[in-house]
Amino acid sequence: MNKKSWHKNYPEDVPQQLELTDTSLYRFLEHSANCYPDNEAILFLNHRLSYSQLKDRVDRFATALHQLGLQKGVRVAIMLPNCPQIVIAYYAVMRIGATAVMINPLYTERELTYQLKDCQAEAILVLDQLQPKVTNLLPEVGIKLLITTSMQDYLAMDVSQPEALIKSEAGYRFEGLLTNAQPAPPEVAIDLANDLALLQYTGGTTGIVKGAMLTHKNLADNVIQTRVWLSPCEEAKERFFCVLPFFHVFAMTTCMNLSVYLAASMILIPRLEALNLLKQIEQYQPTIFQGVPSLYVAVISHPDVKKYDLSSIKFCLSGGAPLPMEVQQNFEAITGATLVEGYGLTESSPVTHCNPISNMRINGSIGLPLPNTDIKIVDIETGTKELPAGEIGELCIKGPQVMKGYWQMPEETAKSLRGGWLHTGDMAYIDDKGFTYIVDRKKDIVISLGYNVYPREVEEVLYEHPKVKEAAVIGIADRSRGEVIKAFVVLKEGVEARKEEIIKYCRQHLAQYKVPKHLEFRDELPKSTVGKVLRRVLVEEEKQRNN
Ligand code: AMP
Repeated sequence: MNKKSWHKNYPEDVPQQLELTDTSLYRFLEHSANCYPDNEAILFLNHRLSYSQLKDRVDRFATALHQLGLQKGVRVAIMLPNCPQIVIAYYAVMRIGATAVMINPLYTERELTYQLKDCQAEAILVLDQLQPKVTNLLPEVGIKLLITTSMQDYLAMDVSQPEALIKSEAGYRFEGLLTNAQPAPPEVAIDLANDLALLQYTGGTTGIVKGAMLTHKNLADNVIQTRVWLSPCEEAKERFFCVLPFFHVFAMTTCMNLSVYLAASMILIPRLEALNLLKQIEQYQPTIFQGVPSLYVAVISHPDVKKYDLSSIKFCLSGGAPLPMEVQQNFEAITGATLVEGYGLTESSPVTHCNPISNMRINGSIGLPLPNTDIKIVDIETGTKELPAGEIGELCIKGPQVMKGYWQMPEETAKSLRGGWLHTGDMAYIDDKGFTYIVDRKKDIVISLGYNVYPREVEEVLYEHPKVKEAAVIGIADRSRGEVIKAFVVLKEGVEARKEEIIKYCRQHLAQYKVPKHLEFRDELPKSTVGKVLRRVLVEEEKQRNN
């Protein structure tokens, strides 16, 4: 196959090669604040921040972090839902050359401990309601600096009136630090192509949780690649509906960072509820709506969907999981918006593919590679032999958005990055028009509500239950959540247990979206000749049972 067969189907208004100089997300913010100082940058619960105010808050917080002794290269954890503080902290951490580590606020102590220990963060910024979950862990994970913030105080904050309370018993106060610092952070020399801007945790291509090391240039280049693709977006005119959480790389790049680049308004939605979603779209009039497929399902399957005016939305970008064709068609019919599917993964900042917006798009395909992105399909036996059009193998990607490697895991890095090619762990093929189709995940990740769940992690918790002898976990299809977790459990001899007690145990040790929705007791699990539990057999049994 001609590897570049997609070129003739490339949208006419998108260059296939871009000149990408070394730049950073902070420079994008500076540009938007200089060119559009009064434009709305953030809308949150009817409170507004303009671009000049956003940059002022970022500079103040960067100054405060520097004054607290945080140096270039240290890791700063951020554990917040979508709110102004997550944007301010993320850009401020990068401004001083430190590395941001985004943490899912739903994490349990166990998950938090693993991630915080692994990244060796020196500081953490956390919402005050979540602070009790974090405080006890600090000595164990080695964090010296705790900063808390509250929605209420932040919204009432006035930077012209310096707040006295910089520190309380619980730790430093975000609002106090911000109002007492000058918006004058020191200049820091940053090597944009090599220094880490972000350590983003993922199960990656093998299922072991690890930090993908993304440089300033990786993140900035991916914003430019995506922006060029989304050519109908107009600078300083768009309104982004930010309902996907910014701690996940998809929303981080395509909502937060792209919005800053375009001087668009971010409409921040901290909590997801289907009815509110419709109300909020009608009220805030977003023009762009990025989502995972289950969000679009939530919109179209709401009984009152036709009562709301959703006509402000011009364009939607779906990613993170396969978008069912029926959902795409229904969504477009109901809203009149264009919904295109893209693809990416944490290790590539994340966007690598998207369906054209103006040209031919193909339902069921993830589209064409973004500018400056090369792709190939390799045979999984050899890992190197390139396959021709139509043959299924592992999708590999090369481009400026591909990570430096995994944090302190050279062996995992060597498995995923070979000769500059990122081995995605996704089985795919490319058709003769150059469109890519994801067939299945080589890795066994389950995607529930857009979140990745790694079966092994759930199995480990099940194995810890005193009555459990063996466990296997798979994902099963679910109309509203994409997939849900099903656990198969073999009890220890002579003991009895109720399903509810095992599920309750999982709830205590896992974030809600990882907890099995279904549980089945078995006398034994299917195994290979060497004794490995065969999850695939369970998946097949489930499929047959539901047919
Ligand atoms: P994450 O690193 O959390 O962003 O997850 C990346 C994984 O999500 C990819 O390796 C794919 O398995 C899956 N994924 C993302 N987008 C799509 C898509 N459009 N279709 C199918 N799978 C997808």
